[in-house]
Amino acid sequence: MEIINRTETADPRSEEGASDTREQSSNLGRPACSGGRKIRSLVMWSGGLDSTYALARLLQETTDEVYAHHIHLNAPRDDAKSRSRRCEFEAQAISRLVVPLKSRFRSFEYSESRADLTAFACFARDTTSAMFFAAQLAMSRGFTPFDRILVGVDDEDPRWRPGTELYALRRMLMNRILRAVWESEEIPYLYVFYPRPSRADAFAYLGQELAPLTVSCRHPEAGGLGFGDHALHPCNACAKCRSRPKLEQDAEDEAAA
Ligand SMILES: [Zn+2]
Repeated sequence: MEIINRTETADPRSEEGASDTREQSSNLGRPACSGGRKIRSLVMWSGGLDSTYALARLLQETTDEVYAHHIHLNAPRDDAKSRSRRCEFEAQAISRLVVPLKSRFRSFEYSESRADLTAFACFARDTTSAMFFAAQLAMSRGFTPFDRILVGVDDEDPRWRPGTELYALRRMLMNRILRAVWESEEIPYLYVFYPRPSRADAFAYLGQELAPLTVSCRHPEAGGLGFGDHALHPCNACAKCRSRPKLEQDAEDEAAA
């Protein structure tokens, strides 16, 4: 496995403090400071709706030092028939989103890693791989148990329905990954929005300017009518693609009302 890490932008700790209105905002239910320093929050950012929403809310509603990390995860497609193009597709979304997010909200640190798992027939699910990298990034940025790692999930994901055994299991497994990397019980807090947003909520929150820049498709395709050889576009067949036009229409209707 090849792993490359790269950090692109300045450390947000050098940024000026947030405005008074932000100081009075919810901070998503956590104290704004711990021991005189700001809470640090990390989002594992795929370029999809859920994680982009999580990032936007952190920037808008907290005074946290915000870190966004993207993994270029080259892995075979789930059905192993052809190589997944999701990695490139998500990377395109990230490259469209970084600047508009910073100009609309405030600055944050963006970094990325690259992991090539294509040699393997079997590999851990996305969230497991993501947590492994999250732990590395958070540890290298001095995260403590007062800081948090956000998992961006919507209210349709059965694994993250609070109060269920699946939820407890998922949380426990992810915390184990964090403990293994830290070699300690003292790990950052795994944070999930409660209540979890619907995809429509997330779309509306990001608005017409940002939401269309995110990607949802699980199996993007290359080429085709009106696209260049290397341009990727949504398959328009997977469940995520099929639900997207309604989200866009609802958001448009709401904006027009
Ligand atoms: Zn699709």
